Amino acid sequence: RADIAMFRAKELGGDNYKFYTHAMREQLGERVQMENALRQALERREFVLYYQPQVDIGSGRIVGMEALIRWQHPEMGMVAPGRFIPLAEETGMILPMGAWVLRSACQQLRTWQSEGHRNLRVAVNVSARQMAEQGFVGSVADVLVEAGLDPTCLELELTESLVMNDVEHAIVVMRQLKKLGVKLAIDDFGTGYSSLAHLKRFTVDVLKIDQAFVRDLTVDPDDAAIVTTIIALAANLNLQVISEGVETLEQLSFLRAHGCSQMQGYYFSRPVPASAFGAVLDENDARLAAGSAAPLGVA
Ligand code: C2E
Ligand code: MG
Ligand code: MG
Ligand code: MG
Repeated sequence: RADIAMFRAKELGGDNYKFYTHAMREQLGERVQMENALRQALERREFVLYYQPQVDIGSGRIVGMEALIRWQHPEMGMVAPGRFIPLAEETGMILPMGAWVLRSACQQLRTWQSEGHRNLRVAVNVSARQMAEQGFVGSVADVLVEAGLDPTCLELELTESLVMNDVEHAIVVMRQLKKLGVKLAIDDFGTGYSSLAHLKRFTVDVLKIDQAFVRDLTVDPDDAAIVTTIIALAANLNLQVISEGVETLEQLSFLRAHGCSQMQGYYFSRPVPASAFGAVLDENDARLAAGSAAPLGVA
């Protein structure tokens, strides 16, 4: 937006130039402010993890949850990750932030497990900068040991663009992570630039169907075709598949009918803070114990 403003300013000349440079300065000021606030956020403990359940439709069980970062700023309020993750990546802040996310999510899962919620996994989003960092695999290993968590209970979500950033390096890191025993998922699958030839070389366990394809699934035949093709691809490559962004019973029914049994979305639950998620787990356990195979309000 800044370069458009600059272009317009030059084009219009005179007072407009001043106007646009003023707008640019304000924008720049905002960015610097945001950057400073972000730098302080970790030590001020302003980051919070929310958790969203991942449901197995066949058994009605919550099989895991995705950890999603939130920034609770004293003045700005709740800042969505879309507004600060890109800045965190640019500034390198994503490294300490990502380390915090990983440690917190693993410790939280360990707590839930010790409270009796076994067979749960936690999915953690990883950014390109983290993957590129020397010693990333070692830091994952350290966190697992420190939390006392079985490596197979941790799933790392990588995006295609992250992997394509430096394919050869990413493949090496993925192999090392697999050796540790952690699970790997491709997030937002189908929206990136990786090819099937690459997918073959990725040692991943799970494809996550992007919510962009799920949204109009029941009304757009193209989306329906893409989703059924991803489900078939996953089955043929012996990969698990999970849909994100499931909001309606119609979407759920379509996905189930086409062989996708794991789902995540507002239909089941929005992402919620850890304390609320504990209650969701208890509720679901109680429902299953009572003999129902229906998770979270599914008929
Ligand atoms: P993502 O990993 O693809 O996460 C899914 C996003 O979809 C989340 O947005 C989630 O709240 C939202 N979502 C879940 N169910 C539904 C649904 O039924 N309908 C709709 N419309 N949306 C749904 P959120 O939490 O705002 O996160 C956005 C993105 O920010 C994430 O996309 C991920 O790429 C990134 N992100 C979040 N937390 C972290 C983190 O700890 N580290 C890194 N590196 N990235 C993160
Ligand atoms: Mg994700
Ligand atoms: Mg996603
Ligand atoms: Mg997404």
